[in-house]
Amino acid sequence: MDKYIRQKLVLGNLDEEIHKVSVAVVGLGGIGSWLSQMLVRIGVKKIIIIDNSTVDLPDLHRQFYDEEDIGKYKVDVSFDKLKRANSEVEIIKYYEFNEKNALDILANVDILFDATDNLKARYVINEASIITGKPWIFGSVARFMGYAALIHPRLFCFYDVFGKKEEGIISEKHGVFSGSVLLVVSLQLRLFLNFLEGKIDPFLYYFNLETFKLERIKIKRRENCPICMGKKFEYIKWRSRK
Ligand SMILES: [Zn+2]
Repeated sequence: MDKYIRQKLVLGNLDEEIHKVSVAVVGLGGIGSWLSQMLVRIGVKKIIIIDNSTVDLPDLHRQFYDEEDIGKYKVDVSFDKLKRANSEVEIIKYYEFNEKNALDILANVDILFDATDNLKARYVINEASIITGKPWIFGSVARFMGYAALIHPRLFCFYDVFGKKEEGIISEKHGVFSGSVLLVVSLQLRLFLNFLEGKIDPFLYYFNLETFKLERIKIKRRENCPICMGKKFEYIKWRSRK
């Protein structure tokens, strides 16, 4: 029996492409705990998972962990769960993601998924993406709302989407609706198909499940973008070897 038969029925030849791709998921909270499961189940070749935190009781309403996992490192619990989900996928775990290892991680995958909960990590990913030329899929959730975008440094970067802004709504303070988490994961998986097809769709996808609004906002590169155009990196120490 072919494990992926029902995936092939809907995705056709794209199914083969999935099995050739290596990915990284940064953050294993609401978005990352489910997203990493789906990426392993659809059969990516290799996945690098990264998280530095432990499972806490208020995580359980929206994260793929059990009561018995409380106090354990999310990356350890996820590693075991992912192994059980699909033994054919190579899984590598890291306990830290920062400006020192970001380039190495991105160099070892084809695409990175952002499932972090803070802007600094996203700007580190952004810089690493520009330096390595590798794309990433941004994802963010707050209350009933969510955002996702496929960011390819050839076309635009994270700064072109949001600019440098203050940390927005955070889950500890404002809460998160579990359904919003899963919709962000769905959007990221859908954008992953675009990546596999080589289609860079210059849109930021936004939804609000409270009002049933789903919309896309066109992304344009800022001509004077200090990061992708000016190569002024704030976090990663890097110099062009030209
Ligand atoms: Zn830019």
